[in-house]
Amino acid sequence: MGKATGFMEYERKENLRIPPKERINNFREFYKDIPVEERRRQGARCMDCGVPFCQSAMALDGMVTGCPLHNLIPEWNEQIYKENDRQAFMRLNKTSNFPEFTGRVCPALCEKACINGEHGNPVTIHDNERYIIEQAYAKGYIKPVVPQVRSGKRVAVIGSGPSGLAVADTLNHRGHNVEVYEREDRIGGLLMYGIPNMKLDKSVIARRQKLMEEEGVVFHTGVNVGVDVTAPDLLKKFDAVVLCCGAKNARGLNGLEAKGDNGIWFAVDFLKSTTKALLNGPFDEKSVEELEKNGGFVSAKGKHVVIVGGGDTGNDCIGTCVRHGAASVTALEMMPQPPKERKASNPWPQWPKVLKTDYGHEEAAYVYGSDPRIFETTVKEGHYDKAGHLKEIVISKVAFKDGKLELVEGSEQTLPCELLLIAAGFVGCEKYVPDNFGVNLSNRNTVLTEADHFATSVKGVFTAGDMHRGQSLVVWGVAEGRACAREVDEYLMGYSNL
Ligand SMILES: Cc1cc2nc3c(=O)[nH]c(=O)nc-3n(C[C@H](O)[C@H](O)[C@H](O)COP(=O)(O)OP(=O)(O)OC[C@H]3O[C@@H](n4cnc5c(N)ncnc54)[C@H](O)[C@@H]3O)c2cc1C
Ligand code: SF4
Repeated sequence: MGKATGFMEYERKENLRIPPKERINNFREFYKDIPVEERRRQGARCMDCGVPFCQSAMALDGMVTGCPLHNLIPEWNEQIYKENDRQAFMRLNKTSNFPEFTGRVCPALCEKACINGEHGNPVTIHDNERYIIEQAYAKGYIKPVVPQVRSGKRVAVIGSGPSGLAVADTLNHRGHNVEVYEREDRIGGLLMYGIPNMKLDKSVIARRQKLMEEEGVVFHTGVNVGVDVTAPDLLKKFDAVVLCCGAKNARGLNGLEAKGDNGIWFAVDFLKSTTKALLNGPFDEKSVEELEKNGGFVSAKGKHVVIVGGGDTGNDCIGTCVRHGAASVTALEMMPQPPKERKASNPWPQWPKVLKTDYGHEEAAYVYGSDPRIFETTVKEGHYDKAGHLKEIVISKVAFKDGKLELVEGSEQTLPCELLLIAAGFVGCEKYVPDNFGVNLSNRNTVLTEADHFATSVKGVFTAGDMHRGQSLVVWGVAEGRACAREVDEYLMGYSNL
């Protein structure tokens, strides 16, 4: 433990956020580190628990709290306090391939389990992680680590989201020759073309890509496996193939087809168009007007926008629409509004089922005067102009009846809406890659393996990440990628020391 009385002496201090008034004018990251002396005090708040729940990944009441990577959190908290930033990095690096991603976008399952959260505020584990990794890059603790001996085995990874990157990174460091195939023009999966730039600056992904390339990983972008390259090609060339293609099948809305030119888009396609436009131009000071001129870009400017779905994706759409200059933003959520505080039936260290007000909600409230969310509500139907473009929608309250969600008659309301974004979750992976490889799918439309394993029904073909577990989190993608790499290594070598 860094300081025995730290948790009693120091208050929790989170990273600073640029206020909405300033940050909505651009797509830059808006978190700023606190001064280093304060960071050290935040490290001192850790009690170095004998049984550290923060690193446990316990499933309680159907939800996990604690870190899925089992990060050695108390150890690096102590090193932060003792000013040993290099040692803090060494311990973080032992269990986590990409702390720069999780230190930015992870909902911090660890903090929900931190014992300081039982009666007060948890340790700032998430911000501490970001501090450690950014110090490591800035101070040169991170250097390319090229394996001294190569195994001669070749592995293809399909998909370069967090799970594919974690498989590739782990197997490359073990000495295998790894090539990553990515359908998009840039690597990163949803880190690149899902999560907006203000939450995760895309240069952070490029920085990691450069490092991995220097270490020997080969990336092939713009290659659609199953179309441009087929399973037999890959199985001939490689000793093992790992499918990490994500869960891209978006859940639609009855009677409201996301055709794009009718004003209805799936959220990820909308978010991707903004990020692409940002990256394809002079990046820093691009205004929305300039973005529109670029073309191929879905604009919310001047439009009444309705977003269906209240999760992270919905929130990212809100923040993006605010930055575009939408006329109004309304977010519909089918479930009831959660309580502001934990209920007695949802005690620590369970995942807190409480109302989360994220950056997008905060920004919309600043611009339009109120929280954009309407709970227990969905879209009943859309009305279109003569050109077939959406102009308004009818929304309706919903309620559970006999365990089924039903529209509440007489609760309809009409809203102007020229842009409808569907952020209603995902229903598993796209089928053409599993079909091409001939691997079995589960009834949830994910690639089937034995529980807690990663080998598919086809010899030499493995899977990890959202394609395997269904729509999830970056940290689970990395955790699955690491565990899958171990299984691949065992398959290739007959044993594994990973
Ligand atoms: C908008 C949005 C915001 C999110 N925000 C957060 C957040 O803040 N925090 C968090 O923890 N999680 C967040 N998530 C979830 C998280 O991004 C995913 O759980 C995670 O990225 C899954 O990683 P993955 O590697 O399994 O798949 P993905 O990230 O989906 O990557 C799959 C990759 O495979 C590629 N691919 C697919 N088919 C082929 C093919 N045939 N050939 C070649 N390549 C192919 C895809 O192009 C893609 O790059 C968010 C998700 C969305 C949609
Ligand atoms: S649970 Fe909290 S106080 Fe205990 S070791 Fe983890 S971070 Fe430190």
